[in-house]
Amino acid sequence: MEEKNKKKLTYVLYTFIIFMLFGFLVWLGHFSVFQDFITKIEQSSFDLRQTILSKYKKPNKDIVILSVDDATYEYIMDKYGSWPISRKIWADAINFIEKANPKSIIMDLLFVKANLNDVSSDKALIETVKNNNNVFLSMNFDNYNDEIRKSPEIDEKFRLKVNEGYLNDNPYITFINARVAMPELMNATKNIGAINVTRDKDGIIRNATPIFKYKNNYYPNLSLLAAMSYLNIDSISISDNKIILDKTHSIPLDLSQRTILNWYGKSNTYKHIPLWEVIKAKKENNIEFINKNFKNKIIYVGTTTTSLSDIKSVPIESNMSGVELHATFLNNILDNNFIKKTSLKIDFLISIILCLIVGYLVLKTENVAKTFVFLFSTLVIYSIFALFLMQAFNLWITIIFPFITTITTFILIYCEKYLLKSKDYEQTYKLAVTDGLTQIYNHRYFQEQMIININNYKRYGQIFSIIIMDIDFFKKFNDTYGHQSGDCVLKQVASILKKNSRTSDIVCRYGGEEMTIILTNTNKKDAQITANKICQAVRNNKFTLANGEKVNVTISVGVATVGENGLTPQEIIEYSDKCLYKAKETGRNKVVSEV
Ligand code: GH3
Ligand code: MG
Ligand code: MG
Repeated sequence: MEEKNKKKLTYVLYTFIIFMLFGFLVWLGHFSVFQDFITKIEQSSFDLRQTILSKYKKPNKDIVILSVDDATYEYIMDKYGSWPISRKIWADAINFIEKANPKSIIMDLLFVKANLNDVSSDKALIETVKNNNNVFLSMNFDNYNDEIRKSPEIDEKFRLKVNEGYLNDNPYITFINARVAMPELMNATKNIGAINVTRDKDGIIRNATPIFKYKNNYYPNLSLLAAMSYLNIDSISISDNKIILDKTHSIPLDLSQRTILNWYGKSNTYKHIPLWEVIKAKKENNIEFINKNFKNKIIYVGTTTTSLSDIKSVPIESNMSGVELHATFLNNILDNNFIKKTSLKIDFLISIILCLIVGYLVLKTENVAKTFVFLFSTLVIYSIFALFLMQAFNLWITIIFPFITTITTFILIYCEKYLLKSKDYEQTYKLAVTDGLTQIYNHRYFQEQMIININNYKRYGQIFSIIIMDIDFFKKFNDTYGHQSGDCVLKQVASILKKNSRTSDIVCRYGGEEMTIILTNTNKKDAQITANKICQAVRNNKFTLANGEKVNVTISVGVATVGENGLTPQEIIEYSDKCLYKAKETGRNKVVSEV
């Protein structure tokens, strides 16, 4: 029963340790250095999961990229001898592609200022945009003040229609300035969306901002706008931390009102058609080419040549072009495929559960190697589980925090367990060398100590003596007062011996009603003095019996000293026994130290 209680107490103690650990980590969480550290490795674990899983994901086949790649740059310089690409070329390319009836042509390119040297090209592009309402233009929000650029008014036709709900202001979505398309283009279209991206602290882009706030109005991300057009939606609702497009499409939002992107693969996951091939096909009037590549497709147009486009670091790759990033966001919306992160509460709960599991496994298992295998397999299984959740449910559960807490718990419990074990060992040893009745050392300990003391004498010349005593007429005493009273006397004699010897002396029960004391650093003369003192103390003591009666008891004592009376335990004990015998012979209740 007692053992059971002890075990229970240990388990309570461990649970307490685990909760203390969490308290400590919550406290640490107030320091941004610690937070950043955890966030950084958690993000890396997310990147790793995405890299593994992106190989098994299928991108939306309706999305193609019309790319301004290195070959296009060479082609344009060769044939036209000028850069950037003339707006006339863009106009011609768009008009030609329109013959294949694409769903939409989304320009991840800014047409900001009128080109005064080439007014006719501008006109051609404006006319093209006006005639094709499936062409989407881009703009970019920023926070330049009015002195650098006067913040433009953006026509209300470009605003995002929000049926209900609202977004809280924050630096990721709220801006005070914008770079829009040139006024004639703004007049010619009703499709313009923002192409801003935001990087995490480590420079990697993991989120997209679906909605921007500018001069207290909402404006859509270019990909959101294109997705709405594709899905035939003209307004959205915001509720429960998500943007609702229709019954089957919604975009989850995190605390910064952004969404976490799910990646389908590295560059060239979407089909790339270089612009120069379109220009060439137009020259050859190759309708088959554009039908094959663009019929019913959503075409994202942008720069992919690494020397010209701004390169983005994303979880699965460090150099992805902006247009592919935007295409990924569009793909996420169309396939309703965003990553959702579990809440802090759930992360905590998971960590506590893992700690408890590992903690109790360590407690239950004696084998050291096994406990390490347990820890290792728990962490591996959990990582696989996390990977599975991302694969099956697009869920991002935290890995690093549970790892840190579980490993810390493992170490703490290990330390505690081994401390307790060594205490247990001490206790067991003490029990093994103590006499149960009198609580002084037993015969076994006496023998051990005799050997140690003789060795010390031989090696360092440390002298010692032993006293051996026997209660007089104890058989008769038992017969008269009963065994119980005999036991009482034995206990009291033991306590007298202890009281009258030094702490360095070793008081033992030799057997029956015989007791011994090893007196360290004591010669015969001093041992005699102590022996007499004890003999007298017993003689003068009133022993209390089981029934409360008080009686007198006497002892006979023999003394022996190492060296002069022997050099082995047997010799010394034999000599002291002889003395004791002589004391009994010569009248009892006395000390004898010579025979
Ligand atoms: P003597 O003066 O010659 O020593 O006479 P004695 O009767 O004491 O003789 P002896 O030392 O041979 O007696 C040992 C007795 O001690 C036997 C037993 O009744 C008693 N005894 C031994 N161990 C215990 C014990 O643990 N409890 C009790 N109550 N008595 C014990
Ligand atoms: Mg005896
Ligand atoms: Mg006796």
